[in-house]
Amino acid sequence: MKNEPHVLVVGIDGVRYDSLLAADTPVLDRIAEQGFLVPVRVHEKNATISGPVWATVATGVYADRHGVSGNSHHPAELDTFVDFTAAVRAARPELQTMIAASWHPLAAKTACGPIFSSRGWVPAQDPEEANDADSWVSADDAVAQYAVARLKDEDPAASFVYFGEADVEAHNHGTGAGYPSAIQRCDSRLGALLEAVESRPGRVGEDWTIIVVTDHGHLDTGGHGGETDVERTAWIAAMGTGAPHDVTAVDHADIFPQVLAAFGIAAQGSDGVPFGCRQDPRQKPPAEGLRSTAGSR
Ligand SMILES: [Zn+2]
Repeated sequence: MKNEPHVLVVGIDGVRYDSLLAADTPVLDRIAEQGFLVPVRVHEKNATISGPVWATVATGVYADRHGVSGNSHHPAELDTFVDFTAAVRAARPELQTMIAASWHPLAAKTACGPIFSSRGWVPAQDPEEANDADSWVSADDAVAQYAVARLKDEDPAASFVYFGEADVEAHNHGTGAGYPSAIQRCDSRLGALLEAVESRPGRVGEDWTIIVVTDHGHLDTGGHGGETDVERTAWIAAMGTGAPHDVTAVDHADIFPQVLAAFGIAAQGSDGVPFGCRQDPRQKPPAEGLRSTAGSR
């Protein structure tokens, strides 16, 4: 009998690629070793802002279709796109899914939300009210605790779990000393999620794909929304059944079709493609080399 597919997508907001590489992140290092970690240029149709990019992660389409251009307004267009957990349930109604996020608009009807049409669990105390480090650390810890319990005690086939403290740290204090610490705490929370997965009683009969993604980078002084490379460079890491080593190019829009592909569901009308179906533009052979590389994709 085929192993039961499971996909866990973890969003970590506003983690600059070079800052991630410099930080001490043993859990993400392990994911990169067993699968891949690649930089992702935020698509030109999306502003380098949380709302538009997380909406692309959730729905597999860019802002010209989902309509989310900032963090404050919920466009009617977004309601025509279900998130990947809803799409999995539509095709396989017997499956459970889980969403937990410290940034309320991802999972609740507020500001540009719900970005995930299924909605989900958010901490009772909204960390955006005080918007300081303590509030966000507490909220992210609460998200991790909630998600660990669900992953251990229930059977969520497709999940999205989100941590926001690193983005807020950079907004409030720039990408200096506090930023790597915030990134490292998010890596530890990611580790707790993976431990919960590994501790599942039925783990040997389950296939898991773990996908970790950030939405945009930051200026040195903190802040994003512009066109600099540090703002436009995000990243995606993944390991497990759907994350072969040789993946070198992925996009935020690919997460939706990749999650569905794990369950054998085709993503109709997505702007993305499953992992491994996208050619890295940096590895295109030069024109004069075309003949010798004929036959390669
Ligand atoms: Zn963000």
